[in-house]
Amino acid sequence: MRKKHIVVIPGDGIGEEITSAAVRILDKVANKSGLTLTYEKHLAGGASIDQYGVPLTDSVVQAAKRADAVLLGAVGGPKWDHVPPEIRAEKAILGLRKELGLYANLRPIRVSPALVEFSPLKAEAVSGIDILLVRELSSGIYYGEKCESRVVGGIEQASDVEIYTVPEVNRIMHLACKAARLRSKQVVSVDKANVLATSRLWRRTANRVASEYADIALSHMYVDNCAMQLVLAPKSFDVIVTNNLFGDILSDEAAVLTGSIGMLPSASLGDGTGLYEPIHGSAPDIAGLGLANPIGTILSAAMLLRHSLGENAGAEKIEQAVDKVLAAGYRTADLYKPGSTKVTTDEMAGLIEAQLS
Ligand code: NAD
Repeated sequence: MRKKHIVVIPGDGIGEEITSAAVRILDKVANKSGLTLTYEKHLAGGASIDQYGVPLTDSVVQAAKRADAVLLGAVGGPKWDHVPPEIRAEKAILGLRKELGLYANLRPIRVSPALVEFSPLKAEAVSGIDILLVRELSSGIYYGEKCESRVVGGIEQASDVEIYTVPEVNRIMHLACKAARLRSKQVVSVDKANVLATSRLWRRTANRVASEYADIALSHMYVDNCAMQLVLAPKSFDVIVTNNLFGDILSDEAAVLTGSIGMLPSASLGDGTGLYEPIHGSAPDIAGLGLANPIGTILSAAMLLRHSLGENAGAEKIEQAVDKVLAAGYRTADLYKPGSTKVTTDEMAGLIEAQLS
């Protein structure tokens, strides 16, 4: 009997509804495939501030480190907007990323055939896109030395330093090349090597790593061109790998191509436990109303099966079940249009579960 242990952190707002929906789906897949999943639920974000005075406790960190994977809803909300900066709800996610050594954020960008009409792009441009965006998560300009303000020659200035090391680029490139092996074997490495020294080190290292993967085609693209090509020719991409800053911006641009924030999953990976969460926030405006779309979290659970539990078949079954339910015309409120069938968060989870029978 295969046994795996998952830490579930609902967080705030719609977190409880969407993680419950995803656990229901994980249980169904596990039952069908002889896998035993055990769960441990923990507080983080605003819920943890209310209970313990901090957004992330050490006991949650230790539980996450012991687990095979972490499934997270989302944290934050207006109730905690005015807490001191050092205990802001978002610190829970940054703290988990740091403690778990998560250095890669994976964001698959797919458009379910039934939802092509929600994209801001024309149907023919967007139907069939299947991109995996791999963002370096642990280094770069967000973590370099900062100067908020200094006066030089009577003029105020500020600065942020970007540093990348060869080992940091090595590990993210290996991860991108391995991920590409399970897909169309094309990696586009995005940088600004015409201007930035860190990008030139990134490019040299990317070439060295890719030379170890004879089956992978590596190409390079400047970030400004990539931002343009994502809109002009999104179907030309398979795996995109890039640094922390460029990845932050390009991943939101790529997400918007799908037109539906509630649909998109993500995985953060490192050397230990992986963390899986939808890309959206805690949506406090719709919390507790049954209006939340649980699919981003359900697809995050599929990524969890694939990347942390080695259960690729189960992951594919979930992805196919989601497509089937959408093709049958069922929609949560965020995607509802006359002619389709409006369902609640729970009903959507039930319909996907039924497809897995
Ligand atoms: P948001 O993503 O929570 O919501 C933006 C809009 O999208 C809202 O109208 C919301 O109702 C809708 N929406 C989001 N997810 C949805 C879903 N699954 N189904 C249907 N509709 C959905 O972003 P926001 O309003 O800017 O932030 C709200 C809170 O979430 C803030 O406290 C913010 O800091 C936090 N946040 C957390 C994370 C995270 O935990 N990773 C990420 C982003 C924002």
